[in-house]
Amino acid sequence: MGRRVIISGNWKMNKESAGAAELVKGLLADVKNMSAEREMIIFPPAIYLKEVSEMTKGSKIKTGAQNMYFKAEGAFTGENSPKMVKDAGAQYILIGHSERRHVFGETDALINQKVKAAYEFGLLPMLCIGELLEEFKAGKSKDVCKKQLVEGLKDVSADQMKSMVIAYEPVWAIGTGEVATPEIAEDIHKFCREVLTDLYSAEISSIVPILYGGSVKADNAAGLIAKENVDGALVGGACLDAASFMGIAKA
Ligand code: PEP
Repeated sequence: MGRRVIISGNWKMNKESAGAAELVKGLLADVKNMSAEREMIIFPPAIYLKEVSEMTKGSKIKTGAQNMYFKAEGAFTGENSPKMVKDAGAQYILIGHSERRHVFGETDALINQKVKAAYEFGLLPMLCIGELLEEFKAGKSKDVCKKQLVEGLKDVSADQMKSMVIAYEPVWAIGTGEVATPEIAEDIHKFCREVLTDLYSAEISSIVPILYGGSVKADNAAGLIAKENVDGALVGGACLDAASFMGIAKA
C-alpha cells in the first residue's frame, strides 16, 4: 500500500461564523465523492474550531488548528494550548506555517517545541517548511528545507514520526499564483525524503506524507499529486470556496 494522500485546507484569518458554517456544509455535501483513499483536513481559525469540529464529526473531514503555544496552560495572553485544541475536537495541528515564521517571527527552536508539545498532548502535527524567494533564486531551497527539518524534528522519535505529516510550501508560491512546477516540487520532496532517511530510516521516510502547498488550484493539483513523492496538498486561497477545494480534493 502506498502512502496516505491528504488534501488539507488552511483557512488562515478568513471566514466568520456564518461563512464558516456555509463552507463546511458545502464540503460535507460533496466529500463522499472524494476517493476513499484520500483524507481531508481543514484548519479553520481557532475561534471556530469547536463549531467546525462538531459539524464535521463522523464525516471524512478532520480538523486542526493553525497554531498553538507549546505550554499546557498559564499566563500566555492570546495563545491557545494543545489541550484547548484537543478539547475543541481537533486532531491535527499546523506548525511552522510560513506566515508564522515570517510574519510572527517563529524560529525553528520554537517550532520544535510546538512539534514536541503536539505529541505530548496527543495531536498530530503537520510541519510546514519552505524557502523564501531570495533563497530559491540563490539555489538554497534544499539547504533551507534541510535545516528546517533537522531543527524542527529535533528529539522527535522514529515512533512519533509515524504520525508526522510534512508540508513543503515554498514561500514564493504562497498566495502569489506562482505555483511550483510538479518537477520542482518532486525534486524537493524527494530530497526531504532523503533527509528523513538520514535522520531516521528508509522505512520511516517512506511512511511520512509530504504535501505540497503554494497556489494549488483545481487545475494544477492533478499534475502535482501525480508525482511519486507528492502526497497531497496544503491549500490556502482555493480552500475558502467549497467547489474549488472539492475540485482539488477530487483532482
Ligand atoms: C498556505 O497558506 O498554506 C497556502 C499554500 O496558500 P495558497 O494556497 O493561497 O498559496
